[in-house]
Amino acid sequence: MAENKRDYYEVLGVKKDASADEIKKAYRKAAMKYHPDRNPGDKEAEAKFKEVGEAYEVLSDDGKRSRYDQFGFAGVDPNYGGGAGGYGGSGFGGFGGFGDFGDIFSEFFGGGGSSRGASQNAPRRGENIMTHLELTFEEAAFGCEKEVATPRIENCAVCSGSGSADGVIETCSQCRGSGQVRTVQNFMGMQMQSTTTCPQCSGRGKIIKNPCSTCKGKGKVRRTNKVKVKIPAGVDTGQSVRVRAEGSVGINGGPNGDLLVEVYIKRHPIFTREDRDVLCEVPISFTQAALGATIQVPTLDGKVEYEIPEGTQTGREFVLREKGIPEVNNPRRRGNHRFTVVVETPTRLTKEQKELLRQLDETLVQAETPKIKKFFENLKDFFD
Ligand SMILES: [Zn+2]
Ligand SMILES: [Zn+2]
Repeated sequence: MAENKRDYYEVLGVKKDASADEIKKAYRKAAMKYHPDRNPGDKEAEAKFKEVGEAYEVLSDDGKRSRYDQFGFAGVDPNYGGGAGGYGGSGFGGFGGFGDFGDIFSEFFGGGGSSRGASQNAPRRGENIMTHLELTFEEAAFGCEKEVATPRIENCAVCSGSGSADGVIETCSQCRGSGQVRTVQNFMGMQMQSTTTCPQCSGRGKIIKNPCSTCKGKGKVRRTNKVKVKIPAGVDTGQSVRVRAEGSVGINGGPNGDLLVEVYIKRHPIFTREDRDVLCEVPISFTQAALGATIQVPTLDGKVEYEIPEGTQTGREFVLREKGIPEVNNPRRRGNHRFTVVVETPTRLTKEQKELLRQLDETLVQAETPKIKKFFENLKDFFD
């Protein structure tokens, strides 16, 4: 149970006072490393992947994080109480430390823990599943459909989620199905009524005489779920796409959790991205820079011809309007394509070529290279 679990901060390798950003970065790194796609069939990696996902789900949520800081595993969602193996570990019995915590609560505050006791029987949402997806620059820019495979908790197909091999499920005689029992205790001379988890059925309210062998009576199994995910045009690294109800199955008939797919954009050999603008460099020769030229500019829409004017300086940026990345919620609006020309100085010139350049240099008067002229003027002032 809970004592076998590693501390969430330790799992992510961050300090207790780590910022939200540090936690996110650490999670991303670990999740990429242990992602099932990268470690097919590796059970240890799968467990690690699950472990970092769980740690992140708690530490990335301010409320859960502060409860975890205060109460440890007992303070966070009871869904997690099942131990490192989730439902596979200890199953429904007591939900880790949370049940004990509820008991302490009810002892001192009389019935204070009853809402927690009741929640064991009440419908609850299944857990959210998080995964990662690597996209090419173009896939992220224009959107795509991808299949992701993530382990999640599903109803056992053999017993249809009932947990019973023969379908015989009896209502617990001790709590008559409520999952809780009331006791009267003497607390410092006062009669205190308290509600605790039924010891006979561990709060389930039901007794299964002949448990299903596939799920060992839990009614739930861990299975890899393949889902097609529609990635909208314009997504950027770190953004998540939510697929409703593709997370783990709900508990006691509650709704399914969601699947959250966080995207990463792979490096592109030519393009980089700045928000919705696409950036690239285009090398030009120095004669093209001096004389002007029509050059081919690579864009997301293919090659675009662009006329650079004569006398173009190296490092100058040109803008092709609305050739950038579409806006996620309004794909008709696009960012710009910005390209920077870089003048390439010729190397390994022949004797004849060098001679021609010298002749050219002699004809250049200073007015034609205003920056050089200004520079030497400044130098003169500096040394005077
Ligand atoms: Zn089963
Ligand atoms: Zn019972």
